[in-house]
Amino acid sequence: MSKIAVIGGGIIGVATAYELAKLGEEVILLEKNYFGSGSTFRCATGIRAQFTDEANIRLMKHSVERWEKLEEELESDIVFRQTGYLFLATSEEEVEAFKANIKLQNKFGVPTRLIDMDEAKEIAPILNTEPFLAGAWNPKDGKANPFKTLFAYLFRAKGLGVDAREHTEVVGFEREGNAITTVKFRYNGRIERVRVDAVLNAANAWAPLINEMAGLKRNLVPITAYKHQLVKTEPLEPGQAEPLICPPSWNDAYIIQDGEDGGIICGAGIEHKARSLNDVEPTYDFLRGVLDYAVRIAPPLRYAHIVRQWAGFYAKTPDSNPAMGKLLDNFYIAAGFSGHGFMMAPAVAQAMAELISKGRSKVPLDWEWYDPYRFERGELRTSAFQIG
Ligand code: FAD
Repeated sequence: MSKIAVIGGGIIGVATAYELAKLGEEVILLEKNYFGSGSTFRCATGIRAQFTDEANIRLMKHSVERWEKLEEELESDIVFRQTGYLFLATSEEEVEAFKANIKLQNKFGVPTRLIDMDEAKEIAPILNTEPFLAGAWNPKDGKANPFKTLFAYLFRAKGLGVDAREHTEVVGFEREGNAITTVKFRYNGRIERVRVDAVLNAANAWAPLINEMAGLKRNLVPITAYKHQLVKTEPLEPGQAEPLICPPSWNDAYIIQDGEDGGIICGAGIEHKARSLNDVEPTYDFLRGVLDYAVRIAPPLRYAHIVRQWAGFYAKTPDSNPAMGKLLDNFYIAAGFSGHGFMMAPAVAQAMAELISKGRSKVPLDWEWYDPYRFERGELRTSAFQIG
């Protein structure tokens, strides 16, 4: 049994701690704030395998299969619902691009198909079909509750012996050659040390700071925090807009009905580079901009009250694909998840835990594609479609 420190108590860190404990490892999970306080509790709930490149499609196909069994495995209702994702095309060129994406997704067993606007209207009665020519529809995509999912993983992880600590900030490491020997952390104003055999950096937007503490260049894995925002309406009758609905050419605007309370969550690619890693203040330009898109997608929304607006980070690498793999002999990273870390978590957690514990993984994760050293080599991947 090895002792492994997982840094970051978002969905990636918590789920990986659980998977490591399942493999019999001794795990200490360190979160500087409260669990979920980073991007995870701010996310839009969406889960999709509709990506446009082989690596992300295959990873998400596996992740969706894991999501399908998660409630049973974690013995908890995480409100996972396969209510689909519906992308909408506004031009013939986009319809052709959808067809090419669908072909690639079908090749790897993702059952997306092109649908007409009559079928789209049946799927989402609230939809204004007029501006759109066709839809890319995968009924197996879906959504889950980020709060319940994280707490379900955390509860099980603790049950398997994970030493899970909140308000515990990692502040440095001791290193011998290319290996981390000790993690230093601050709790209640005191600095403590723990000797470890391996470390996972799952700090997402904060990951470059952790890399720097490990003696690496801060920009080795360049992750920039962009403020991504959402608004939510009062509850509407269930069944109005259950899938995530997105016309990508409208600045990646999207709506999705909350699987529990029926409120409509509205997002868009109206983003601001965060001024600091504390900058989660919502902005008025987003509120105006996102509602303009939302009422064009679903006109009845103009009568719905907005009850909340919030912001969080899309922690983005230059190609919007996460960095996953080994950085030093026993120092690993899984960070930079842009708009898709929640949906990827079940697959990524399993893959990272197997990599750390056994040196290899059964998960169809293309390690070369996500290689954290690719930026240093100047090898960017095709940009991953970012929204939730
Ligand atoms: P985080 O949840 O950010 O966790 C990292 C943690 O590390 C933080 O809690 C932080 O406090 C901790 N940390 C940092 N430094 C230290 C330190 N020194 N010591 C200890 N702990 C430290 N994804 C989807 O899949 N679907 C969606 O629909 C979706 N919608 C989104 C909507 C919004 C508005 C936003 C902001 C994001 C959305 N995302 C979505 C993205 C998703 O939320 C993230 O990709 C995911 O939550 C990343 O999880 P994580 O565990 O990597 O990071």
